[in-house]
Amino acid sequence: MPDHTLHGNNERCPACELRQEAVDRSMILRPKIKCQVCDGTGLLPLSTAEIVRRTCEEARRIYWPQFEARIAVLTTENQTNG
Ligand SMILES: [Zn+2]
Repeated sequence: MPDHTLHGNNERCPACELRQEAVDRSMILRPKIKCQVCDGTGLLPLSTAEIVRRTCEEARRIYWPQFEARIAVLTTENQTNG
């Protein structure tokens, strides 16, 4: 079971997101926000399959050879248009 508090392993709870944003983060002991959806954490855990799917999607997006190929296509389009 992945740790849902790690970046990318959760989504923000839409039920209490505005109340979470209004909390003064400078205090060490913050008032507990009551929420029936996320139990006051402000985070909704993602399933393992969803975490893997999003990670693969991001890896495909930033895969370097394909990134360079996209840049090359954009550069050629700009040169032919301009
Ligand atoms: Zn919530």
